[in-house]
Amino acid sequence: MKLASVAVLSALVPLLVQATATQAEPAVDRLYVLDCGIGHAPDQSRWSPGVNVGVPLDVSDNCYLIRHAQGYLVWDTGISDAVAAMPDGQPGQNGSPTWHRSKTLAAQLQEIGVKPSDIKFVAISHTHPDHIGNVELFPQATLLVQAHEYDWPLPSGSPRFKPEHPVNKLNDDYDVFGDGSVTIISTPGHTPGHQSLLVKLPHSGAVLLSGDAAHFKDNWENRRVPALNTDKDQTLASMQRIADLLAENHAQLWINHDLPQSRQQKHAPEFYD
Ligand SMILES: [Zn+2]
Repeated sequence: MKLASVAVLSALVPLLVQATATQAEPAVDRLYVLDCGIGHAPDQSRWSPGVNVGVPLDVSDNCYLIRHAQGYLVWDTGISDAVAAMPDGQPGQNGSPTWHRSKTLAAQLQEIGVKPSDIKFVAISHTHPDHIGNVELFPQATLLVQAHEYDWPLPSGSPRFKPEHPVNKLNDDYDVFGDGSVTIISTPGHTPGHQSLLVKLPHSGAVLLSGDAAHFKDNWENRRVPALNTDKDQTLASMQRIADLLAENHAQLWINHDLPQSRQQKHAPEFYD
């Protein structure tokens, strides 16, 4: 009997040690905000029908880098790095913003010692050009994208991603590393497969990166739906889903294109932990 108890205890000790170690070293430990462009739009009402018609609006365009013990994840890739070489930026068409880039995503990664080949996952909120501009900087990284977005053909009929790019097509929420620290949340409406990201940081707490579920704070607070969204009811349901998650997780809402909010945030090389 005595010997058996010792054996059971010895078997338990490594498990206990492992549990303690996991608690002491959180698997996700850094969230960087990267400057992936600034947009100048001629008319805010592109996103807020009937409100501030004809009033210009400047928007941020952020990318995010998340460091996890299992590897790096990039969330959204901004407008193309090529825009950094255009002195007058990339002109907008039909009311879309003119984009400027003061530095490339590649240069910002280099500054913090991260190589594109270090990136394990690239997850994008949706496939508009200001979010997928640098997906091919990471040809080896697995794309995490909703099937409804991936399979949504461009007006030209061509695919939205290179068919050879490794992909995990998702059909709902997805726990990226299997430990609940980084979770993709399905929030359709802006586009058919729009998604958001919930990140649980050890010190800063939970942060919800909402992509373009809302474009800026005033639109979020008033639940305004841009006319160009693919589905109004889905958009409103997704906003409610986000509001519920914020409450459940005591999470901060980070709105990608909200320039005043972005200006208050730490940007790389600084980070949130
Ligand atoms: Zn956008």
